[in-house]
Amino acid sequence: MKVINPTTEAVIAELQPTDAKDLSRIIESLQEGQKAWSLKPVAERLACIVRFGELIQRNSDELAHILTSETGKPLRQSLNEIQGAQNRIDHLQQNAEKWLTSETLVDSGSTHEKIVYEPLGVIANISAWNFPYNVGYNVFLYALIAGNSVLYKPSEFASLTGKQFEKNLWQAGVPENVFRCVIGGGDLGQRLLEESIEGYFFTGSYKTGLHIARTVAHKLVPVQLELGGKDPLYVMDDIINVHQAALNAAEGAFYNNGQSCCAVERIYVSDTIHDDFVEALTAEVSSYTVGDPTDLKTYIGPLTRLQQLEVLKDQIADALSKGAILKTGGQKMDREGYYFEPTVLVNCDASMKVMQEESFGPVIGIQKVGSDSEALDLMQDTDYGLTAAVFSSDQKRALRVLEQLDVGTAYWNCCDRVSPNVPWSGRKHSGLGATLSAQGIRAFVQPKSYHLRP
Ligand code: NDP
Repeated sequence: MKVINPTTEAVIAELQPTDAKDLSRIIESLQEGQKAWSLKPVAERLACIVRFGELIQRNSDELAHILTSETGKPLRQSLNEIQGAQNRIDHLQQNAEKWLTSETLVDSGSTHEKIVYEPLGVIANISAWNFPYNVGYNVFLYALIAGNSVLYKPSEFASLTGKQFEKNLWQAGVPENVFRCVIGGGDLGQRLLEESIEGYFFTGSYKTGLHIARTVAHKLVPVQLELGGKDPLYVMDDIINVHQAALNAAEGAFYNNGQSCCAVERIYVSDTIHDDFVEALTAEVSSYTVGDPTDLKTYIGPLTRLQQLEVLKDQIADALSKGAILKTGGQKMDREGYYFEPTVLVNCDASMKVMQEESFGPVIGIQKVGSDSEALDLMQDTDYGLTAAVFSSDQKRALRVLEQLDVGTAYWNCCDRVSPNVPWSGRKHSGLGATLSAQGIRAFVQPKSYHLRP
């Protein structure tokens, strides 16, 4: 399997895909390894993860270069991701033992009652390429600490990083038969669905997520889906600093080239501040440094996947044909690599693909609105339900909108943010189940209830 650098379009590695025979052997060894791993005290499993975190931090420069080479993520953002994801490990260190300890609910009278949290077994972690540290950690660290073994399938666009997870986990003391990274594309993912696995934890698109849920339904094992979004931001007319709001909105939309599940994907702006907001946002986006992602000054690098260039071109053409106006960008860049100009469209409406379908690239559509109720109707006018944001100086007013939205995460005066303290979950076509927080670790255990008559 060829690994292509999206900046140079050169093949930078060739990996041997995991074949069917290897896969069966790996799963057998993970089944074996899981038994011994689950008998270790939580503190011992946690200690391995803490050591893993230390190794990653120590090697963050080298790891950031690997991530940038296969995804095109600007190096500064690769470093941010690697260093920032450590917050999951810190949070687990503080809480995991507490969350996994058995709970006695009744310890008097004739019948005592308690809950013990048992691991699921061997779980499959089928992952995405856009934030492999963040979304990988959310699953495999929590699963390992809970006593499971993990079959990790990185996206074919982040396989070198997946191999680094394996190397560093092993070095940190996680046994080789407890964590394995397998290499391959969608066909390998498909094969995992046919294997004897006790839980599927998927991060990726709605289309693949739905396919996985359907295919493994007959097994009646846990299936968790972290899927895409079309996340709206509404900027209210009472915002005090329109310029700052525009800068924050631009960052939410364009960080990592817009390739974030919770990127701001569409913006609704009150008509009274619309023109000032658009002017500030367009100026900011036009000033972004586009270029070689290994240069620490670069803010926008290439897209990771060649095929996404066509998706963006199609969305922009569709919008322009229906009356949108291009403020900046709009084209694939005339240079080597999968570069697309950071693009701002105004005069958008709900009939346009750019306001309905995930763009997953450096493109934002903006629509003018006349009232909170109009904004609310538009914000919930997609099949997705990942996040939604409101910028306003009035918390009560912002919450009145946010409380009515069918989303897993609501932001007031911030956006595009994930925290280990609170669950990360999508609704509707954005997913099923939750990662992070206590709920995120409970996803990897099954309760056993004891009724004991001493
Ligand atoms: P895909 O759905 O294309 O792929 C996700 C994973 O599934 C990859 O490892 C892929 O392998 C694998 N896969 C592909 N086909 C199959 C199959 N038939 N059976 C099993 N596995 C399969 O998503 P992307 O990698 O393009 O990720 C981008 C998407 O992920 C966006 O929609 C984004 O919003 C979403 N996402 C959601 C997050 C969340 O927390 N809600 C976080 C991050 C991303 P391969 O790549 O090798 O083909």
